[in-house]
Amino acid sequence: MEDQNNVRVVCRFRPLNDLECQRAQGLCVSFSDQTVCVNSQSDSAENLKFTFDKVFTPESSQEAVYNFAAKPIVEGVMQGFNGTVFAYGQTSSGKTFTMSGPDLEDPITMGIIPRMVNTVFDFISDTDNNTEFTVKISFCEIYMEKIKDLLNPTEGNLKIHEDKIKGVFIEGLTEMYVSNDIEVHEIMKEGNENREVASTYMNAVSSRSHSLFIITVNQTNSKDFSGKVGKLFLVDLAGSEKVAKTGAAGLRLEEAKHINKSLTALGQVINSLTDGKSTHIPYRDSKLTRVLQDSLGGNSKTSLIVTCSPSPYNEAETISSLRFGIRAK
Ligand code: ADP
Ligand code: MG
Repeated sequence: MEDQNNVRVVCRFRPLNDLECQRAQGLCVSFSDQTVCVNSQSDSAENLKFTFDKVFTPESSQEAVYNFAAKPIVEGVMQGFNGTVFAYGQTSSGKTFTMSGPDLEDPITMGIIPRMVNTVFDFISDTDNNTEFTVKISFCEIYMEKIKDLLNPTEGNLKIHEDKIKGVFIEGLTEMYVSNDIEVHEIMKEGNENREVASTYMNAVSSRSHSLFIITVNQTNSKDFSGKVGKLFLVDLAGSEKVAKTGAAGLRLEEAKHINKSLTALGQVINSLTDGKSTHIPYRDSKLTRVLQDSLGGNSKTSLIVTCSPSPYNEAETISSLRFGIRAK
């Protein structure tokens, strides 16, 4: 049975943005270390309480989120285990802020990905000369159930394969060898420029695709040739908001259906891993869960970070995101 400690589910509330401040409605939530109370403004709902492994407030630092939700995972990867970090939430709730941060090189505001990259290279420089390391980066997105290579945008529909040696993998996905953090940042910027983006009424440039940043660390001992490999998936999920609020029709509606289907599949997979009684894990229900098959469950460590707005204006989406998080646990 699954070791519950391998899955951490946390939530993070961003500060109110300018628009929300102008509405001057204050916050619809109150926090303690592990619980969030939504003090509902609508008449029908009673106050709701949600429990997580950790609750991060608008004042929480990038470092605090990293230490709890990401550091144990990258440490596992350096020991040869796989790991995954997800950011889940409605558009503009702080997913990209949490995963990447506004500045990859600023030690205060840098997000989880650049912090993990630093940890990998620090580990390598602290390790004795008898170990040889290779670090590889891939960057892709899943849009409308199609896998697109963000480091080679001509590849717009890559296929998933499985074999005995490699396990589950994306056939033909670019892998770039890197030797320091700056090279990784360049690759991140290049990939982000290639990202499929479309506008919604909620956010001028909103991501309607899941982005997967993949770091593979290979280690070989030059004395006994023993080796280990750890794979890290850093996933900035597509916005989880309901269709009606974004006024979707046509293509936007099709996008929303795909997003909804894959997020539901992800919730079901994490739920069957954590409930301790499922024998069938429904990895095949979406491209996202299929790609992550070898990195969810087993010895892999997983963190799900649910990002939310604390504003009453976003209360319905916040409740829906918090419900997704506690169901996953
Ligand atoms: P998403 O990726 O979920 O659409 P973003 O990460 O782009 O959302 O966040 C929306 C805005 O809120 C951005 O301007 C971002 O810098 C800001 N923001 C998000 N989370 C925080 C935070 N914890 N502290 C400060 N600003 C934040
Ligand atoms: Mg984003």
